[in-house]
Amino acid sequence: MQALGLFGNIAAAQSLPSLPRNFGSGKSVVVLGAGIAGLTAAYELQQAGYTVHVLEARNRVGGRSWTVRDGDRIVMNGEADQVARFSEGAYFNAGPARIPSFHERLLGYCGKLGVPLEVEINSSRGAYIMGGDGRKQRMRVAINDTRGHIAELLTKAVNQGALDQSLTPEDKAALLPFLKTYGDLDDKGGFKGTLRSGFKTYPDAGVRSFAAPPEAVPLRDLLANEQLPATLFEDNVYMQATMFQPVGGMDRIAAGFQRALKRPVILNADVQRVRNGDRKVEVAFKDTRTGAMRSLSADYMVCTIPFPVLAKVDCDFAPPVAQAIKNVVYDHSNKVAFDAPRFWEKDQIFGGISFVGGDTSLVWYPSAGLFSPRGMLLACYSSGERAARFAQLPIAEQVERARAVVEKLHPGHGGECANGVAVNWNKIPYSLGPWPNWYAGMAGRQEGTIDTDPYRLLNQPAGRVIFAGAALSQTPGWQEGAIQSAHGAVADLANLQRADAVTQPTRIAA
Ligand SMILES: Cc1cc2nc3c(=O)[nH]c(=O)nc-3n(C[C@H](O)[C@H](O)[C@H](O)COP(=O)(O)OP(=O)(O)OC[C@H]3O[C@@H](n4cnc5c(N)ncnc54)[C@H](O)[C@@H]3O)c2cc1C
Repeated sequence: MQALGLFGNIAAAQSLPSLPRNFGSGKSVVVLGAGIAGLTAAYELQQAGYTVHVLEARNRVGGRSWTVRDGDRIVMNGEADQVARFSEGAYFNAGPARIPSFHERLLGYCGKLGVPLEVEINSSRGAYIMGGDGRKQRMRVAINDTRGHIAELLTKAVNQGALDQSLTPEDKAALLPFLKTYGDLDDKGGFKGTLRSGFKTYPDAGVRSFAAPPEAVPLRDLLANEQLPATLFEDNVYMQATMFQPVGGMDRIAAGFQRALKRPVILNADVQRVRNGDRKVEVAFKDTRTGAMRSLSADYMVCTIPFPVLAKVDCDFAPPVAQAIKNVVYDHSNKVAFDAPRFWEKDQIFGGISFVGGDTSLVWYPSAGLFSPRGMLLACYSSGERAARFAQLPIAEQVERARAVVEKLHPGHGGECANGVAVNWNKIPYSLGPWPNWYAGMAGRQEGTIDTDPYRLLNQPAGRVIFAGAALSQTPGWQEGAIQSAHGAVADLANLQRADAVTQPTRIAA
């Protein structure tokens, strides 16, 4: 098939092919999982004329794209169920919560499916960085005072000739005035403080009070705050303004897909067996409400079940594929959320994130419902090893630790955080983790650079089964990755069908 050019490479498989509306007519596809990848694949295959059945183990669509509202039950393996008690209209995005401007496929579907979006305020200069010793700085102070000191030092170095090897006289002439503006330096190149960091005295009416900047925080004190690097968070391209969120919760996107599917998703359908035949795929699934087993066959399968879950399903994949599935290691990630009166808004924080380090990592303020009486405060969102440790704590302790951090950051308000709930993604059935860590045990970033043998193998069709999901994209922690992978799956499936036309001509003729 490769010789015939019928299987595209990974890069080519990522774009959505433009298929005629009857391309798939007479052909059936079973899609396993109704997360963003499964829903996208189902929607696009439906558009290309396929008969599509989607099997979803949960009683809702969306998968990891999950919004918790008042009365919802949080079920975790090995833990007592938690029931969310949130005030009216409040919601908690337990999984995805923000969409960057450049995730155009996801934003495009929101437009196509009629999912209203609003701005997600991902950073606020009013929020804080707080060191382990409890000392905190407003973002605007940490960012602008650090910049002022660095500009002053660089100015000194240039003026003392320390950079003469690197800079021409013309470079120096251009750099010095830039540094003055960059750091808000005085005429002698010194940094004494800046109004960018706020006010020592606030401008008032008449001549009662003029605006004056606060004293510069000494560089030593800024550097002593181990959260100082978090001031660069908003420069990460995935985190840059403008970011978006669906109005009313991230699960509105999945709901949009659900509305657009002609054949309803089969919910409560826990897939337990997959048979990958020469001409058909067979799936057996349990109706989790009745316990009854049912089965379904189709020409092709798109499987989006997360790999740690799929590893436990009875499948007849070739041994290297089965081994690859078993070996994918998933990360840890936790969130803890509270329903609270908006005390942070009285402290002039409207959206954005305070970085606190430790096991809980951050406090994330809601972008929705500004100025309303109450809102959801995310008081823990951490991943990796510290999240693995945190998830071992009893749920009540996780909630109390998150509350204690809020109290340290916003003294007097920890007690106002009500009805805390914790989500440990590695304990969530049908997910068993937030995203894969393809380079587990190895240092370095994975986003954008994944190229391991198992990753390549699972990005190839296995017989009539095509794997898809954010896990098989360069951005396993983003919904956009799920969509890219689903688009790749549609392309691969079209190629499989073209290959069938070559290898099974009689069947096609029939
Ligand atoms: C904590 C957290 C924060 C995140 N933040 C962001 C963010 O801010 N922005 C962003 O864009 N993305 C974010 N993501 C990533 C995003 O949630 C995922 O990339 C995306 O939702 C994955 O979609 P998927 O379809 O690949 O997988 P899933 O959503 O996991 O879908 C798989 C589906 O398969 C179903 N399934 C499992 N087992 C079976 C079975 N046996 N039978 C039938 N069905 C089964 C599951 O129930 C599920 O519905 C975050 C994820 C997490 C966990």
